[in-house]
Amino acid sequence: MKALQYRSIGSAPEVVVVPDPEPGPGQVLLKVTAAGVCHSDIAVMSWPAEGFPYELPLTLGHEGVGTVAALGAGVTGVREGDAVAVYGPWGCGSCAKCAEGKENYCLRADELGIRPPGLGAPGSMAEYLLVDDPRHLVPLDGLDPAAAVSLTDAGLTPYHAIKRSLPKLVPGSTAVVIGTGGLGHVAIQLLRAMTPARVVALDVTEEKLRLAREVGAHETVLSDAQAAAKVRELTGGVGAEAVFDFVGAQPTLATAGAVAAVEGDITIVGIGGGTLPVGFGQLPFEVSVSAPYWGTRGELVEVLALARSGAVSVHTETFTLDEAPLAYERLHAGEINGRAVILPHG
Ligand code: NAD
Ligand code: ZN
Ligand code: ZN
Repeated sequence: MKALQYRSIGSAPEVVVVPDPEPGPGQVLLKVTAAGVCHSDIAVMSWPAEGFPYELPLTLGHEGVGTVAALGAGVTGVREGDAVAVYGPWGCGSCAKCAEGKENYCLRADELGIRPPGLGAPGSMAEYLLVDDPRHLVPLDGLDPAAAVSLTDAGLTPYHAIKRSLPKLVPGSTAVVIGTGGLGHVAIQLLRAMTPARVVALDVTEEKLRLAREVGAHETVLSDAQAAAKVRELTGGVGAEAVFDFVGAQPTLATAGAVAAVEGDITIVGIGGGTLPVGFGQLPFEVSVSAPYWGTRGELVEVLALARSGAVSVHTETFTLDEAPLAYERLHAGEINGRAVILPHG
C-alpha cells in the first residue's frame, strides 16, 4: 500500500510503497477514509537526530478515520464495514489514568513502548491503518469522514483545554484564542457552543482572522507587540478569564501572560518552545497555568456528539495521498486556512 513517511532526519515526507499491514490478535485493520495534517508533525520533522524519540521511517498521521476492513483474532465489538474515528493517544488500558479514559496521560505508555499512530506507531497517512485495540475506535455515526477526522485532535485537544476553564467562562467573561489555525478555529467554535464568553481571537494574518470571525470570534486582533494592550482595552482593563495559546512561542506566551485576568487560566497548547515565568508577581494574582496533551476517550465521544449537533465544523482543504507532501509544505508556509485533510483513497 501507499504511505506518507518521514524517512530521515531533516528530509521532507515522501509517498512510498510499504507492505500491506495485517491485523494480529486483538488488532483492527482500518481502510483509512481520511487523515488530518497537524502542525505537531512539522515540529517532529524539525527535531534533531540527537534524542529523536521515534524510529524512522515513520508513517505520519495521528488524526485518522476509516472503515473496519479486517479483524484480528479475538476482536469483538466492531464489525467489518463500521465507520469509526481513532482515539489517538493510546495507553496501556489498565493503569489508573487509562481506567479513567485518560489514555493521553497513561502512566505506563513510555515504559511499555506504546506510541500513538503517526507519533511512533505507523500512522493514518496510508491506505490502511492498524489499530492496536478496538477500544480506540469511536463510531462516526453518520459524520462525514473528511469533515470529522480532525475532531480527533484539532477538536479533542481544544475541547479538553476548554473544559478545564468552563467554571470561569461565565456570562461577561472573555476567552482569548491565540493562533486560529487547525486547533484554534475549532476552539473558537467550541467556546461559542459551550460557554457564553466573549471570544477574542489573535493571529498574524488578516486571512486567518477572517476565518476566526466566520467561525464565531466576537473580536479579532493582529498578534503583535500591541496585541496585549488591545485585548486589555477590549476587556475594560480586566483581562481574559481564560487564554488558550495554540502557538506557545515566546511572544505569544508573553501576550498570554499580559492579557490574563486575576484568577484567570492560561492554557499552553502550542508546542512552540516558549516559556512563561510563573511566580509571585510574575502574573496576576492566582492565575493558573497548564500545558495539557490531547484529551480523553470520553471527551472524543463528546466532541463527535457536538459535531453531530451541528455546533462545530472543521474548515477543511482536502488533498490526495500523493499530494500529502504539498499539504505539509503549505501548512509550513502558513497557507492552510483551517485544516488540511488527506484522502488516501481519494
Ligand atoms: P496551525 O499551523 O494550523 O495553526 C497555528 C496558527 O497559529 C496559524 O494560524 C498561524 O498563523 C498562527 N500563528 C503563528 N504565529 C503566531 C503568532 N505569533 N501569534 C498568533 N498566531 C500565530 O497549527 P495546529 O495544527 O492548529 O497546531 C497548533 C499548535 O498546537 C502547534 O504547536 C501544535 O504542535 C500544537 N498541538 C498541541 C497539542 C497538544 O496536545 N498539546 C495537540 C495538537 C497540536
Ligand atoms: Zn496533532
Ligand atoms: Zn495506562
